[in-house]
Amino acid sequence: MSVVTGEDTICAIATAIGEGGIGIIRISGPEAITIADTLFNSKSGKKAVTIPSHQVVYGNIVDPNSQETVDEVILFVMRGPRSYTREDVVEIHCHGGPVPLKRILALTLQQGARLAEPGEFTKRAFLNGRLDLAQAEAVIDIIRAKTDASLRVAVGNLSGKLSEQIKDLRHAILGMIAQLEAAIDFPEEDIEETAAAEVARLITRVSSRLDVLLATAQTGKILRDGLATVIIGKPNVGKSSLLNALLRENRAIVTDIPGTTRDIIEEYVNIRGVPLKIIDTAGIRDTADTVEKIGVERAKELVGQADLILLLLDSSSPLSPEDRAVLALLPGRKAIVLINKSDLPPRLEMDEVGQYTQGRLVMKISVAQEEGLAELEEAIADMVYSGQVAQGEAAFVNNVRHAAALRQARDRLSDAMATIEAGMPTDCIVVDIRSAWEKLGEVTGETVGDDILDQIFTQFCIGK
Ligand code: GDP
Ligand code: ZN
Repeated sequence: MSVVTGEDTICAIATAIGEGGIGIIRISGPEAITIADTLFNSKSGKKAVTIPSHQVVYGNIVDPNSQETVDEVILFVMRGPRSYTREDVVEIHCHGGPVPLKRILALTLQQGARLAEPGEFTKRAFLNGRLDLAQAEAVIDIIRAKTDASLRVAVGNLSGKLSEQIKDLRHAILGMIAQLEAAIDFPEEDIEETAAAEVARLITRVSSRLDVLLATAQTGKILRDGLATVIIGKPNVGKSSLLNALLRENRAIVTDIPGTTRDIIEEYVNIRGVPLKIIDTAGIRDTADTVEKIGVERAKELVGQADLILLLLDSSSPLSPEDRAVLALLPGRKAIVLINKSDLPPRLEMDEVGQYTQGRLVMKISVAQEEGLAELEEAIADMVYSGQVAQGEAAFVNNVRHAAALRQARDRLSDAMATIEAGMPTDCIVVDIRSAWEKLGEVTGETVGDDILDQIFTQFCIGK
């Protein structure tokens, strides 16, 4: 993707392909309005070029080659810079079926527009200064939001909650650089020393603000990407029953992730706003014989991919070698141990279980009687939020790219601090501080390379 914005006119179907009430073709660029004119016959005889900005006009799309009416549409003209991309944008709102959408798209292409690449509208919005990079990334987070809590964070970031903080911090860092550079110009040693002492004080302040932001990163990542969870336990312990109970009570979100060699289907369970991404749903749903076949080896593999393990034991039977093998997977992992079938007479040696669980949360449940499930959900939510609720007032870091840049910025500031404490020359301090400033600029996109931009925007869907 090496397109210079404004050079050409792009178009794409902006709505999901399938049956729907309305479908939208979006055109952006210098020729957007003239291209629309070649295809559009308004009922009132108005040409698109004469339509005032931000008005809709009713009419037909007519194939200029055959004069055939393709669909009845509404044309929405948004002249730059008051548009998403800040270029001239025309939206053709037609009927939401794949055939009318594809026919109109084909005509638009025939008239000289180019098919937009994934995320290209948003990329233009970014390059034209309509959004910064963190806000552009929030757009895709909104589209992919898995729960209300994920949405709240993404909307906050689109509105600039995180960006404002970053801008503020960068401004403070720039102030440090200015102070140090001014001091360098003075011949007196003590002026540099005073400046360094003042900058050290500012570094402490900025670092602690970075810490506050970074404290949200773990929860933020889970809200955006989901908490990869695996349910393990010996055959017949109740894994499928638990999964079904969780799915029954909590709206599950199934997403299709296109663009890869084969489409990935992901299923999320909404646990109080936490998107739980259940790993190997198919394996758990299958009958016990599949589970038996895959056994502990497969469990081991799945545990390696998980952020959270839900380990099931059967309260009504003594600990078996299989249970011990599964319990042996716990060390070093975040897990909740569920003693299922607590409705039956207890025969499980809890003392021995305790030797394996080592202070981890152990809960008695009965999936069959629907007992303990609310407590389980509560425990999962507590674990993820750990005191912070994504209310949307505060800035929230939900993106690993942002978290990494913030962490690096904080590290560069620690380096600067060490440089000051070691009494090193002022220009050495400036080098570290400047690189902290650059790192923060990666979040909002001021100091980011084309390769990273391409990586970000190609994750978008076409038409966004
Ligand atoms: P999986 O092999 O681990 O997936 O286990 P299933 O979910 O298929 O459950 C095995 C059997 O245990 C089924 O007959 C379930 O109805 C039963 N079961 C699951 N949970 C409970 C429970 O809490 N109490 C009782 N009594 N039976 C349960
Ligand atoms: Zn099962």
